[in-house]
Amino acid sequence: MVKSVIEQGKAVTKTALPLMEDFYTVQGEGVYTGHAAYFIRLAGCDVGCVWCDVKESWDEEAHPTVKVEDIVSKAAAMPGRLAVITGGEPLMHDISYLTQKLKEAGFQVNIETSGAHPLSGDLDWITFSPKKFKQPLPEIYEKAHELKVVVFNKSDFAFAEEFAEKMAPDCKLYLQPEWSKHEKMMPLIVDYVKENPKWHISLQTHKFMQIP
Ligand code: SF4
Repeated sequence: MVKSVIEQGKAVTKTALPLMEDFYTVQGEGVYTGHAAYFIRLAGCDVGCVWCDVKESWDEEAHPTVKVEDIVSKAAAMPGRLAVITGGEPLMHDISYLTQKLKEAGFQVNIETSGAHPLSGDLDWITFSPKKFKQPLPEIYEKAHELKVVVFNKSDFAFAEEFAEKMAPDCKLYLQPEWSKHEKMMPLIVDYVKENPKWHISLQTHKFMQIP
């Protein structure tokens, strides 16, 4: 059972979280591509993307519950001070305590989310990656800094535009080919970005670099 420090009303601030993995690497995607970062991959996801490449993250019971202090002290042992909270769907958990402790240790805190669960925590950068399989909550539209739409087939361009209209004016817009389809979709994405230059291309460069 996950411990909490606040258990009144709906707010449950978790002092321990189900953790699939955490590791120090280089961010491969989006605006922070190329930045050294400590990745914290929380377990649990109810979104159910058919092409998900981390399906082993879905069942949070399959992963240990780890004290936030232990996660942060491991991260703080590395030289970088950028943390990326990902999943799974990390916002299935209240991450307020995790972000508080990361901030106390001097980290910039980024998150990658489908937006399907309420935002929590003190976040410096929100990457919103909406999925067709579970609708996002509208609160994220004004708050996200980066919209990243995974392109799996042609219909995803219309899906991407549907969200682009809802985002804040300064939100960065990225199209990213789904890894297993990148050879097929890349020419279409290149043409699309040339025609619609508000969009940029995000590649999963960590996969080309063969790093986690
Ligand atoms: S939201 Fe992410 S972790 Fe969840 S199913 Fe989709 S790709 Fe996988």
